[in-house]
Amino acid sequence: MRGAAAAALAALMAAAAVRTALAWSDRTHVIITEEAIARLPEPLRGLFAEEAALKRLQEAAVAPDSRRKQMEKDAAAAPPERREALKKKADEEKFKHYLDIDAITPEPPPFKNFPRDRQAAEKLFGAKAFQEHGIVPWAAEQALNDLADALARGQTERIFRAAGDLAHYAADLHTPMHVSKNFNGQLTGNDGIHKALEVGLYVRNEEFYAAEVRKNRREVAYLESPRDSLFEWLIQANGRMAPIIEADTAARRKTAYNPGAKTPDAEKEMEDPANEKSRPYYAALAAELEARGSPEASAMRDAAAHLADLLYTAWVRAGKPASLTPAAPAPVSESAHLSPYLLLIPAALLLLLVLWPRRKPQQ
Ligand SMILES: [Zn+2]
Repeated sequence: MRGAAAAALAALMAAAAVRTALAWSDRTHVIITEEAIARLPEPLRGLFAEEAALKRLQEAAVAPDSRRKQMEKDAAAAPPERREALKKKADEEKFKHYLDIDAITPEPPPFKNFPRDRQAAEKLFGAKAFQEHGIVPWAAEQALNDLADALARGQTERIFRAAGDLAHYAADLHTPMHVSKNFNGQLTGNDGIHKALEVGLYVRNEEFYAAEVRKNRREVAYLESPRDSLFEWLIQANGRMAPIIEADTAARRKTAYNPGAKTPDAEKEMEDPANEKSRPYYAALAAELEARGSPEASAMRDAAAHLADLLYTAWVRAGKPASLTPAAPAPVSESAHLSPYLLLIPAALLLLLVLWPRRKPQQ
C-alpha cells in the first residue's frame, strides 16, 4: 500500500516536471523575453531581472502555447457531449496567436484602411473572419491593459500571467508566419516552411540568434497608442514573408530537399542538427536568408525591442511602481493545468503518513 502511494507520488512529480519542460520552439520566446528585460530601465528592470523572477516570466511567456496544446488535448479526449464546448474554448486561445491580415482584406500592404479597432474590423469583415484568421494584436493589447492594471494594484500573480501573455502574443505578432495567409508556404509550394524556420533553422543556429537579438539596443519608448504600434509591427512582419519564401525556394532548389515532406524520419531530420540528410538544406536556407538581410533575425530583434516598449508603457501607465508585493510565492509553472496536480502532492504525502506502520506503544 505504501509502495503504491509512493509510486503515485513519483508519477505526479514526473507529470509536474514534464509540464515545465521547454520545447525547442519555446526557446525563441525565452530569449526574446530575456532580451526585452535587459533593455528595460531601472527600477522596472529590477522587478523582473532577478534570476527567479526572470525564470518565472520566461515560463509565463511560453505558457500560452502549452495552454493551447493542453486545451486541444482535453477537447479531443472529452466525451462527445462536452467536446464541442471544450473545442470552442481551445479555439479561442488559438486565435490569440496570429492574424493573417492578408487573408481578411484584399487591400495590399501597408493595409492603411484596415480598422485597428476590433469592433470596427468585425463590422467590416464579419466576426467570423477573425475566428478563422486570428486576433493577435488585440490579444496583446488586452494583455498590456491587464498588466498595467495588475501593476497598479500590486497583484504579483496577475502581473506575471499578464506579462507572460504580453511577451508571448507580442512575439508571435512579429513572426512573419503568424501574420500571413501563406503561413506555412502552402500557397507557393513551400509547404513546411513554418516549422523548418521556427524549429529546424533555429536549433542549428541558436547562438547566432541569441547574438542577433542583442544587437542595436536603444532606449525604450513610451507608446502613445499601443494598438497602432502593434498593427504597425504586424504589418512589417507580414512584409518579411516574401524574402523568407524566396530564400526557402532557393534552398530547396539548390539541395533538392523538401523540409515539409511527410516521411517517417521527418521529425528527426528537422530537430536533430547532426542529421546528415537535412544538413545541406538548412545550411543553404541560412545562407539564402543572410543574403536577404536575415529577415527572421530582424523579426526576433524587433520583437525584443518592442516587448520592452510594451512592458515600459504598461509600467508608466500603472504609475511606475518600484517593487512587486513579495507576498505571493512563485509557482512551479504558470500553467493553469498544473494546479490540480500540485494539490494532489500534499494529499499523497498525507496518505503516506496515515499508512505508515505505527510502532506499538511500549508497555
Ligand atoms: Zn504562440
